[in-house]
Amino acid sequence: MPAWICRTCANQHTDTAEPPPSCAICEDPRQYVGWEGQRWATLDELEAEGHACDIRPLEPGLYGVGVTPQLAIGQRGLLVITGAGNVLWDVPGYIDDAAIATVRGLGGIDAVSASHPHFYGAMVEWAHAFDAAIVLPAADREWVQRPDPAVRHYEDTAHLAPGVTLVRCGGHFDGSAVLHWTGGAGGAGVLLSGDTLTVVQDRDWISIMWSYPNLVPLDPSTIRDVLGRVDALAFDRVYGGWWGRVVRRGAKEKVRRSIERYLRMIESEATGGGEA
Ligand SMILES: [Zn+2]
Ligand SMILES: [Zn+2]
Repeated sequence: MPAWICRTCANQHTDTAEPPPSCAICEDPRQYVGWEGQRWATLDELEAEGHACDIRPLEPGLYGVGVTPQLAIGQRGLLVITGAGNVLWDVPGYIDDAAIATVRGLGGIDAVSASHPHFYGAMVEWAHAFDAAIVLPAADREWVQRPDPAVRHYEDTAHLAPGVTLVRCGGHFDGSAVLHWTGGAGGAGVLLSGDTLTVVQDRDWISIMWSYPNLVPLDPSTIRDVLGRVDALAFDRVYGGWWGRVVRRGAKEKVRRSIERYLRMIESEATGGGEA
């Protein structure tokens, strides 16, 4: 039976003969059902349409894993290579034999995780291809659309490989997380942030929201809590969820000032000026 993939969010669902009646990820008010209604695909259909994985080196020890042509919302995953355990973060909704061969040549994958359920993609396919564990926050247990014995849950942090740690921050989802990689950016430290902190068009800034497509903010106390958890980590670079969305250096201070700017705007009594 095919395990159906939602064409809007790229989440793969449990094996069923017929497509599910709806996608819970897209029905959630943080997302949206595609304008043409709920549509599904199988991996075979996506392959026949010409999709292929796009794997590119980003810096020593880090590869981007995307899909071309764009699938669903077009996120690109990230593969951290440590030499003593590799981690796939924010999983594409597609996988093919060429990608498996490429990643095998890089040492395979030991653990799969994601910033949040919008980026779970075809995580079970990726994990099974490499006999990897799927490590997800217990807080977002209800959002797993394809349960699997490879899934194990963590509460607030989980070490996945030397210098590679999942840190649950909350915000966008209760289980929204960052992957902290101490070896990245020449040893200055890197955050892989997905939508937990999103790198915006001006790549010297980030933003944080409850819903990105529907533009719904979070409350100030939750935002402060996320900042506190991130600020406790040592890092100089942030990789967001799409190609090119990277705060290349000075990222810790840029995250702090971005959150402070945001809070000034949503907490100010004044309208229009944001003067606090
Ligand atoms: Zn969906
Ligand atoms: Zn999201």
